[in-house]
Amino acid sequence: MSAPDSTGPKRSVVRGAFNVHDVRCYCGAEMLAMPSTFHTDRVYYRCPVADCEGVVGSHPDGRPVGTPANRATRAARIRAHNAFDPIWQSGEMKRTAAYAWLVEATGVRHIGESSIEECERVIAACKGRLPGGVLRKEGE
Ligand SMILES: [Zn+2]
Repeated sequence: MSAPDSTGPKRSVVRGAFNVHDVRCYCGAEMLAMPSTFHTDRVYYRCPVADCEGVVGSHPDGRPVGTPANRATRAARIRAHNAFDPIWQSGEMKRTAAYAWLVEATGVRHIGESSIEECERVIAACKGRLPGGVLRKEGE
């Protein structure tokens, strides 16, 4: 019996320490809560259906971040965020104003809940928004 070391809470995270919600996949299955590898205090939700790619992360309180998505949709959401986030990260617009513009321009309120088609709409709107501005890349 060795005394517990004093390195603190990172050693093991017991299941009861996580906040977990009931989350349903887009395929209809109830999702499994798995320990996150990025956030030791959080879970992510994974679809138990073998050929389903449904995954969604969680907030610290266990609420899912956006809606479950497959690989292609997650990639599209990342592309949409990469197109949109510079608008407010640059300080050119406040974040709330940027999201208000996004809703007006595309009908999309939450990129994290968007389909691939909606993400493409966001990307197109962001690209078309600023002639010569921060979102234009060389050669486009
Ligand atoms: Zn699923």
